[in-house]
Amino acid sequence: SVQQETHGFQTEVAQLLKLVTHSLYSNKEIFLRELVSNAADAADKLRYKALSNADLYDGDGELRVRLSFDKDAGTLTIADNGIGMTRDEVIEHLGTIAKSGTADFFSNLSGDAAKDSQLIGQFGVGFYSAFIVADKVTVRSRAAGFGADAGVQWESAGEGDFTVENIDKSQRGTEIILHLRDDEKEFLDEWRLKQIVTKYSDHISIPVEMWQEGTPEREENGETISATEGLWQAVNKATALWTLSKSEISDEDYKEFYKHVAHDWEDPLLWSHNKVEGKQEYTSLLYIPGKAPFDMWNRDSKHGLKLYVQRVFIMDEAEQFLPQYLRFVKGLIDSNDLPLNVSRELLQDNKVTQSLRTALTKRVLGMLDKLGRNHEEKYQQFWSAFGNVLKEGPAEDMGNKEAIGKLLRFASTHNDSNVENVSLAQYIERMKEGQDKIYYIVADSYGAAKNSPHLELLRKKGIEVLLLSERIDEWLVSHFTEFDGKQLVSVTRGDLGLDDLSDEEKAEQEKQAEQSKPLLERFTTALGDKVKDVKVSQRLTDSPACIVADENDMSSQMIKLMQQAGQ
Ligand code: ADP
Ligand code: MG
Repeated sequence: SVQQETHGFQTEVAQLLKLVTHSLYSNKEIFLRELVSNAADAADKLRYKALSNADLYDGDGELRVRLSFDKDAGTLTIADNGIGMTRDEVIEHLGTIAKSGTADFFSNLSGDAAKDSQLIGQFGVGFYSAFIVADKVTVRSRAAGFGADAGVQWESAGEGDFTVENIDKSQRGTEIILHLRDDEKEFLDEWRLKQIVTKYSDHISIPVEMWQEGTPEREENGETISATEGLWQAVNKATALWTLSKSEISDEDYKEFYKHVAHDWEDPLLWSHNKVEGKQEYTSLLYIPGKAPFDMWNRDSKHGLKLYVQRVFIMDEAEQFLPQYLRFVKGLIDSNDLPLNVSRELLQDNKVTQSLRTALTKRVLGMLDKLGRNHEEKYQQFWSAFGNVLKEGPAEDMGNKEAIGKLLRFASTHNDSNVENVSLAQYIERMKEGQDKIYYIVADSYGAAKNSPHLELLRKKGIEVLLLSERIDEWLVSHFTEFDGKQLVSVTRGDLGLDDLSDEEKAEQEKQAEQSKPLLERFTTALGDKVKDVKVSQRLTDSPACIVADENDMSSQMIKLMQQAGQ
């Protein structure tokens, strides 16, 4: 054979393959969903490229994927006529994992098969899931726009390495041949395959075809039934899910489609499917994942929606349609108003993009608000996965501060628990007579917040305080200073605005301050310029002293953050 080379897998791929073969057998049929999903992606990519170069179709514009099997050889083949891959692409795409943060992810695996297979769901295994059922995989591919001699064959037993060699391939596209393990021969069965395809890939946008044998001419009840020829027949519905009306789509359909668009293995938490007509025409299908992806906090991790224009796939990870703080949202947008030749650059300053972004942001905030009001448990699942991302919102999206405020949840002195489940609306409901501010404290940990001496007076007066202890919280409260007309005030700040004291109490306090003067002077001299001032305080009941930031100064938590950032 021509130029056969052996390549080692990237370390992380080798680790992934080990996991795949040792821990993913509980739901092994999903390998077919992953391979069909890749074929559909390959068809999308070819259609997009062909928009500017129709020659790429080369007389074969009916994009599809075909399943066939050979019982004697024990092989199952998944063949598409999509974009295909060059030799270099094969080596890159089927030998490495392109996601940033992959190495970190793998260093966190425990070696416990059950636990790790849970984690791997979040990661998504994609093509490598072929090795759940196969002990050898052969990939034959030819990229669109190249001749028959530009084929490439990749082969691996899913251990440390794979081989590549040049081959002749008469048709464009990619063929995946699975050499099934001895105990996986159940997949060499027409009905079993049909069942899996309808379960997982019914609404993929290309037909999944299987060969239907022809029948010879025959007599039945005295009638002659003419012969039929064999043909490739679609076994799925093959209409892109979002183009159907909601009433035609089951929850299962929505969930399976999510796994295809989001490259996730787990069910989504929530979705919203909308067709909008009028000034703007578009369909959106937005999903909130059930779990945070492993790379959510990775700066250069990819996110964004799949973009279609008039049902033609244009690009993945179009991040212009939602703000950063909603980067966990998955799904797609299909616009009738954007031009088919739109590029990432053109999207950037485009009016249509801007108005879609505004509309989609409102849509997401609205669906989360509704979830928060109607499904507390699901909302808590959302909040623990994505709450900290949402807290970036007030700084990024001033116009939606109030809507974002409705979605925030906090731990609070009212519950005396570290569970973040108190909304600002609930806080306001419980405010004391005459109280016009929302009090909070930011500290390094829940324990430190809860036990802070700054809370003593407020506890005594029965006033609730929100207990903030995430790294992002200081950032949040520096941009989120008001909700529902009420100021948010840190209890570590100078004036708490709690002077609803009687004249008697005031006189008593003044007397105390007078008596404490010599003591204050001693403190002031001893502390020197380490402090701005030393004052008698009314806010403590048990502790002897506490440190307070001046109205206009940085809080102690912010100072710590700045120091950590090296400033
Ligand atoms: P993902 O689909 O999430 O990108 P996969 O592991 O499923 O990850 O696939 C890895 C890459 O291999 C794809 O991104 C694609 O570039 C390439 N690939 C896989 N299957 C095909 C195919 N049938 N046709 C063309 N390219 C493919
Ligand atoms: Mg894939």
